[in-house]
Amino acid sequence: MSARLIDGKAVAKKILGEIRESIFARSQQGLRPPALAVILVGDDPASHIYVRNKRQACEETGIQSIYHPLSQNTTEEELIALIQKLNASPDIDGILLQLPLPAHIDSNKLLELIDPAKDVDGFHPYNLGRLAQRHPLLRPCTPFGVITLLNSIQETYKNRHAVIIGASNIVGRPMLLELLLAGSTVTLCHRFTKDLSQYVSQADIVVSAVGQPGIIKGAWIKPGATVIDVGISRLPDDSIKGDVEFESAFEKAAWITPVPGGVGPMTTAILMKNTLIAASHFSLHYSDDNKTSPY
Ligand code: NAD
Repeated sequence: MSARLIDGKAVAKKILGEIRESIFARSQQGLRPPALAVILVGDDPASHIYVRNKRQACEETGIQSIYHPLSQNTTEEELIALIQKLNASPDIDGILLQLPLPAHIDSNKLLELIDPAKDVDGFHPYNLGRLAQRHPLLRPCTPFGVITLLNSIQETYKNRHAVIIGASNIVGRPMLLELLLAGSTVTLCHRFTKDLSQYVSQADIVVSAVGQPGIIKGAWIKPGATVIDVGISRLPDDSIKGDVEFESAFEKAAWITPVPGGVGPMTTAILMKNTLIAASHFSLHYSDDNKTSPY
């Protein structure tokens, strides 16, 4: 048996097209384009590439991106002042604070400072709390991107065992909440899990988000499983590899994502979608006589 590829690029392209159409329809009603503030602190090369891709997606969809490139030496106070200014601005719908931040800045403190109504990354405890309580609004981009990919292959979720490997705040934990919300039975593995193979071999759906190339062996995959590889690692020869041993997993799975071209483009597409949702919420709730936050 060989797997079928889940084409993240194609699914993301379709979503971006739908967003572009919605933004055009908004403009016909006299609404300004959604506006995304993009904050990048320092010189991390990977972050520069991610930000470039996100700003390019803004251009493709008609979202206005307002770029704030800041030096590595930016102080926490300066960043706080900028976020407060963006929170208060009626011209900004979404705020993207690219991670990781330099070590002298407390990321959690800054993420909590972003107005939840503008939290297009979905990392604010308010938005994670909504997801945990089964009323999601702005959903973390990568996990919701994975759900969108699973929906594209008509995944049924219920009566299916999903095994996630990796328990970070931005991928693994919200992924658990998303799959639980969708109706799957979920197991979450992490660095203290002994014998990963035992869990992975029972999975109908595998989602790996570790960042160690080849950590998930093809031999572990249950025949007919769906395999979603979130991991991205750049090897010394500059090639990009996922967490899953692709060739051997391909022989056993029913569906599998490639790396690159699987989950990566979805993260950006969902960020655009969240920005449009934030803008729609904003225009609904922030009329001239009602300037208080919906939260
Ligand atoms: P992280 O380093 O914050 O978390 C990694 C997780 O892996 C941790 O929870 C850790 O417990 C777990 N882990 C480490 N070693 C393990 C082991 N031996 N067995 C089981 N679990 C183990 O990373 P992250 O930010 O969640 O990102 C994970 C990967 O996903 C990275 O490669 C990152 O580049 C990639 N990523 C991709 C996208 C995308 O859009 N495709 C988005 C975010 C992250």
